[in-house]
Amino acid sequence: MSTIDLAAVRADTPACPRGVFLDSAGSSLPPVQVLDEVVGHLRREAEVGGYRAHDERAAELEDGYALMARLLGCEPDEVAFTDSATRSWLAAFDAVPLKAGDRILVTEVEYAGNAIPLLHRAAEVGASVETVPSTPTGEVDVAALRELLDERVALVSLVHVPSNGGLVNPVAEVVEAAHSVGALVLLDACQSVGQLPVYAAELGVDMLSGTGRKWLRGPRGTGFLVVRRAVLPRLRPRLVDLHSGTWSAPERYELRTDARVFELWETSTADRLGLLAAVRYAVELGLEAIAAAVGERAQRLRAGLAAVPGVTVHDLGTTRCGIVSFTVEGRSPRQVRDELADHGVTVTVTGASSTRHDMTRRGLPELVRASPHYFLTLDQLDEAVAAVERVSEDVP
Ligand SMILES: *Cc1c(COP(=O)(O)O)cnc(C)c1O
Repeated sequence: MSTIDLAAVRADTPACPRGVFLDSAGSSLPPVQVLDEVVGHLRREAEVGGYRAHDERAAELEDGYALMARLLGCEPDEVAFTDSATRSWLAAFDAVPLKAGDRILVTEVEYAGNAIPLLHRAAEVGASVETVPSTPTGEVDVAALRELLDERVALVSLVHVPSNGGLVNPVAEVVEAAHSVGALVLLDACQSVGQLPVYAAELGVDMLSGTGRKWLRGPRGTGFLVVRRAVLPRLRPRLVDLHSGTWSAPERYELRTDARVFELWETSTADRLGLLAAVRYAVELGLEAIAAAVGERAQRLRAGLAAVPGVTVHDLGTTRCGIVSFTVEGRSPRQVRDELADHGVTVTVTGASSTRHDMTRRGLPELVRASPHYFLTLDQLDEAVAAVERVSEDVP
């Protein structure tokens, strides 16, 4: 496995020296390769118009499906581009046939953006949404899942890495259990793609959603969906347009038979090209190398924070990834975020409403979330710990 050339990736990221950026789980810093692609294409559109500018890049845009397939371990015809992870997830979820009496299983780290449409549609059709308990270490309890499964379970919604901590859920075991009763598995890989190797075919998932703006370091307003070839015939895409199908006679249309049936025609070409540049960048670094560098940084941060008096690290899981969650005694997470910003450290706050089951059961209203990417130096992580220490000492 190659290792990451820290000097090179920092040189590609002009914002690196500006401070300690710990929000790649929110919206990361893009490398210049991404920024130049987006801005360059917008300029080209201003010169020749959006259609011609698009046609000039048509071959690369088409090759983008193979590139995504390489990143995500699937076939090019199993890839669809969208404008967010949520849009991808909704397109897939909406296409899963559901009827009265059907059951949907979710984990305790389900994300609000999935939970709300799940509850909304379940109420509409008379299906139920049930939560699978977690093991004492926080992962979805696969034995408990097996107990809950029966042939009425239409879908298991699995969040790979939650937005509120370093947990990594087991995917292959969940898929194996779900498939034993014929249930589909929709994997929310929004927080895992770009920081961990995530290969759809190897994991066996039926559908997978993700975003460009987080660990992949792509532009905002980009997302992608994987729908496995064998699963597509079981789905009923609901939002379709003139790109998803062909109007072949006044009363007749034919839908596409690949994952692009989930795409709509209109899209930001500049952002798509930016996403592809981001994916190329990640694939060239290697996802194993990225995961190792992110893991090392998160672990250093966790260990440093855990040693600060008054600081509690809240991450669950036996294998932990790049999301570090903590609280500081006597300071609200928002105060910590704002005071760290004064010290040049960027973190975010994750609230109970994003991951309601998990935060409620642990009695946590809010957490500080720090998510270091591979482009941070180890010294910067120590600086962040020192800044937290100062915030903690300043508690009246
Ligand atoms: C951020 C996030 C999403 C939604 O991503 P969007 O880019 O807002 O669509 C979905 N799931 C998880 C776990 C997330 O953290």
